[in-house]
Amino acid sequence: MTTAVVVGSGPNGLAAAVHLARSGVDVQVLEAADTIGGGTRSGELTVPGVIHDLCSAIHPMGAGSPYLATLDLERYGLDWKWAEVDCAHPLDGGDAGLIYRSIDATADGLGPDGTRWKRMFGDIARNFDVLAADLMRPIANVPRHPLPLVAFGPRALLPATVAARWWRTEKARALFGGVAAHTFYRLDRPATSAVGLMITASGHRYGWPVAEGGSEAISRSLASMLRDWGGKIDTGITVRTASDIPRADIVLLDTSPSAALKIYGDAVPNRVAKAYSKFRKAPAAFKVDFAIDGDVPWTNSDCARAGTVHLGGTFEEIAANEKDITQGRMPSRPFVLVGQQYVADPTRSAGTINPLYAYAHVPNGYTGDATEAVIAQIERFAPGFRDIIVATTVTSPADLERSNPNYVGGDIIGGANTELQVVLRPRIALDPYSIGVPGVYLCSASTPPGAGAHGMCGFNAAESALKYLRKSTRVLR
Ligand SMILES: Cc1cc2nc3c(=O)[nH]c(=O)nc-3n(C[C@H](O)[C@H](O)[C@H](O)COP(=O)(O)OP(=O)(O)OC[C@H]3O[C@@H](n4cnc5c(N)ncnc54)[C@H](O)[C@@H]3O)c2cc1C
Repeated sequence: MTTAVVVGSGPNGLAAAVHLARSGVDVQVLEAADTIGGGTRSGELTVPGVIHDLCSAIHPMGAGSPYLATLDLERYGLDWKWAEVDCAHPLDGGDAGLIYRSIDATADGLGPDGTRWKRMFGDIARNFDVLAADLMRPIANVPRHPLPLVAFGPRALLPATVAARWWRTEKARALFGGVAAHTFYRLDRPATSAVGLMITASGHRYGWPVAEGGSEAISRSLASMLRDWGGKIDTGITVRTASDIPRADIVLLDTSPSAALKIYGDAVPNRVAKAYSKFRKAPAAFKVDFAIDGDVPWTNSDCARAGTVHLGGTFEEIAANEKDITQGRMPSRPFVLVGQQYVADPTRSAGTINPLYAYAHVPNGYTGDATEAVIAQIERFAPGFRDIIVATTVTSPADLERSNPNYVGGDIIGGANTELQVVLRPRIALDPYSIGVPGVYLCSASTPPGAGAHGMCGFNAAESALKYLRKSTRVLR
């Protein structure tokens, strides 16, 4: 029987493993950590019985993933839950922009920018499924639906700072700035609108759900399905060199490009090694998890209904701070993403104690303590927040990397979304998944279509590996 080893059990490693197993390959997954899931793990970080997401929290791209949608993961325990408001963006002075799953409801709250919101996102949301099918594959593929892509391209290629001129009101501009900041890069560079456009459009198509019981339900459901198809997962095994990998027809690496280079050393062709060593890291996350007694006392009460709250003030403030972190400077008021998953999924709380998730955007490798900056940003829009904190757990960029070697310097998106790397990652190649060693493929978020718990990098890499198997006459059952 054809055999495969997948190194790493993040959502991409598991998606790759499931796709291979369902294609008749005998799959073994090796995971360094004691628990599976990589960026989709959950646990009691603060108070017993209160469940926090260790990494990924909100899943517009998981719910909108063309591959995950084919798997019926609900049968394996994945249950998406939605807050009433997908995303809130409060401003000083008490106003807030709100994104609902309904584009009409969103537009209704944006006054003179309501019609413009629909013109910016309406067609992308309507065509989201066909766009995602094309955009979440490597760029070398011939598009199956060129017209929606031609319409999307010019907007996606704009620097977010240029796209922001579309809005007349500070509220819509800030709301757009918050979603654009998910690109984790300075917003005055080409193509920094793309990520924000896609997650907003996916939200208008599928909402911004959380996984009931914690994001680990995503990896748990993939792992259960894998086992049903005969796959095996071994935890507590760190692969350091190729000799740590059992003999197999194909190997998929859910790792960073630099780790792939270390594992395969001189076997990696020079041109690939050079490209991997030039691969640029993104800025980092500084994560603070809180147990709070009751709800956050937001000045704008609509924020209490939101699964995600973006804290960064105006578009201009966000753009300036994202530029700072990209250039290695820590801003005094960094962009902070707050997750109120318990609003959609109350099973994560214990009595009146709720988990609150937050992370600040900080420079890669930041060694300072951003806890106070995170609290201050929340206090800015929710005075009195400090008084309801029961417990706090801090995860610095170094802690993130210790818990998962893929988060190099605290980079949680598997490599910077520079104008080139946002599409052509980890290198310019017809098959970006190949590491240049026959039968070995990179399948992590450092490959197209990039970060997120959507499994598409894993699926695409597995497709490349299956093509190799067919070509090299290794017969699939
Ligand atoms: C704080 C934070 C917040 C996030 N928020 C969101 C969000 O809200 N929504 C969203 O969609 N995404 C979010 N993400 C991003 C998302 O988690 C990642 O993009 C996604 O998990 C990437 O999946 P992956 O399979 O490529 O890699 P990972 O999930 O990073 O998994 C890689 C796995 O491989 C293992 N591994 C690595 N090297 C080796 C080795 N040499 N030997 C053995 N095992 C190895 C690691 O231990 C890990 O388990 C967030 C991430 C973080 C950290």
